[in-house]
Amino acid sequence: MASPIEKVDSLRFWGKPADKAFSMIAPSHLRHNPPMRQLGGRANALKILNSFLNARSMGYRGGISSPLSAPDACSRLSAHISYGCISMREVVQQTRAYIAEMPQQASRHRSGLTAFTSRLYWHCHFIQKLESEPDIEWRNMQQGYDDLREHDFNTEYFEALKEARTGWPMVDACVTMLRETGWLNFRMRAMLVSVAAYPLWLHWRPVGEWLATQFLDYEPGIHWSQLQMQSGTTGINTTRVYNPIKQAQDHDPYGKFVRRWLPHLRLVPDTWLFEPWLIPDHEKNSAAIKGQIVEPLVDLATATRESKQRLYARRKQPEIIDGKKAVIDKHASRKSMQSRKKTVSSQTLNERQLGFDF
Ligand SMILES: Cc1cc2nc3c(=O)[nH]c(=O)nc-3n(C[C@H](O)[C@H](O)[C@H](O)COP(=O)(O)OP(=O)(O)OC[C@H]3O[C@@H](n4cnc5c(N)ncnc54)[C@H](O)[C@@H]3O)c2cc1C
Repeated sequence: MASPIEKVDSLRFWGKPADKAFSMIAPSHLRHNPPMRQLGGRANALKILNSFLNARSMGYRGGISSPLSAPDACSRLSAHISYGCISMREVVQQTRAYIAEMPQQASRHRSGLTAFTSRLYWHCHFIQKLESEPDIEWRNMQQGYDDLREHDFNTEYFEALKEARTGWPMVDACVTMLRETGWLNFRMRAMLVSVAAYPLWLHWRPVGEWLATQFLDYEPGIHWSQLQMQSGTTGINTTRVYNPIKQAQDHDPYGKFVRRWLPHLRLVPDTWLFEPWLIPDHEKNSAAIKGQIVEPLVDLATATRESKQRLYARRKQPEIIDGKKAVIDKHASRKSMQSRKKTVSSQTLNERQLGFDF
C-alpha cells in the first residue's frame, strides 16, 4: 500500500476521454441502466474522494447505517474502485496523508477516516479469501451446510423479492432504491440478504447472482463472502438475522426513506408504516390507500424462528463441527495459535483484529 503510485494518463482512460469512460452507458454486468446511478470516470472518482476526505467523512461514524444518511456519509468510492477508476493504493495513501495533516482537535473527522481506512483493509481481506478459495463463489464455504437450502428454493418468494413485493416496506424500499441507483449501504445490503436467507429461506447463490446484476460496484471477492456470511454458511461467523421492521424503526424512524421509495405508502399513517398489514380493515379501505397494501409473504416471526432452528440443528452435526477446522485453516490468520485465547476461534480473532464491528 505504501509503494509509489504508477503515473497514469489522466486524459485518456481505456482509450476514451477520462470523464466519459462509462458515464452514458451502464457497465456491462448490469442488466439495466439505473436512472439515478452515480457517474463513472476518473475525474468523478477524484472529485468524490476529495469531497469525502475534506468534509463528508465527518459524518462517517454514525452516518453509514441509515439508508437516509449513508449516501452522503459513505465515501461512495466502491464502484470507482471496482472499475479501477481509482486504485486502492491511491485511496489509502491519500487518506493517510490527509490524516497526518489534520489538527489534533479534529477528533470526529479523524475517527471517521480511521473507520473508513479499516474498511479498505476489509476490501483486500475479502478479495484474498476468494483468491485463496475461488470455489466459494459457487459452493458453501463450510460444506457441512450443503443441501440445507438447495432443495427448498421458492421461486415465487424470489420473484416477489426482486420485484419489491415482499410486503415488508423497508425491504421493498431498499430493492427499489437499488434498482434506481445501483447502490445500497452495507447494513441494508446485509438486511436484504438476511431476509432472503432466513424468513424466505432462499439459497444465497441465485440471490447473489441477482444482486450482482444490481450493484454498480459488484466485486466478486467481497460479494460472495458477504452473501455466505449473511446466510450463515461460512460456519465461522456469528449468525446475524436482521429484522426488517426493527431496521426500519432504528434507521428510518420517521418513514422518510420508505415513503420516498414507495410513494404508494405515502399516506399510510406513521403507526402502521412499517407493518401496514396491521392497519384495521376500516382504515385499509380508505380511498387513499385502498389496494396498496401487500400482505407479507410469510409471517416474519414464525418463519425466522423456524429457519434459525433449521440452521442451528445443522450446526450441531459432526460434519459441521469437524469441518470448522478446515475453514479456519484456509481463511484464518497464520499468526501463532498459541498466542490466542483458547475460547476465541482463530477466525473470529482474525476478523476482530481487522476491526469487524458490523
Ligand atoms: C451482501 C453484500 C454484498 C456486498 N457486495 C459488495 C460488492 O459487490 N462490492 C463492494 O465493493 N462491496 C460490497 N459489499 C460491501 C459494502 O456494502 C460496500 O462496499 C459499500 O456499501 C460500498 O459503499 P462505499 O464505497 O460508500 O463504502 P465505504 O463505507 O465508504 O467503504 C469504503 C470502501 O471499503 C470497502 N468496504 C466497505 N465495506 C466493506 C465490507 N463490509 N467488506 C469489504 N469491503 C468493504 C469497499 O471497497 C468500499 O468502497 C457488500 C456487502 C454486503 C452485505
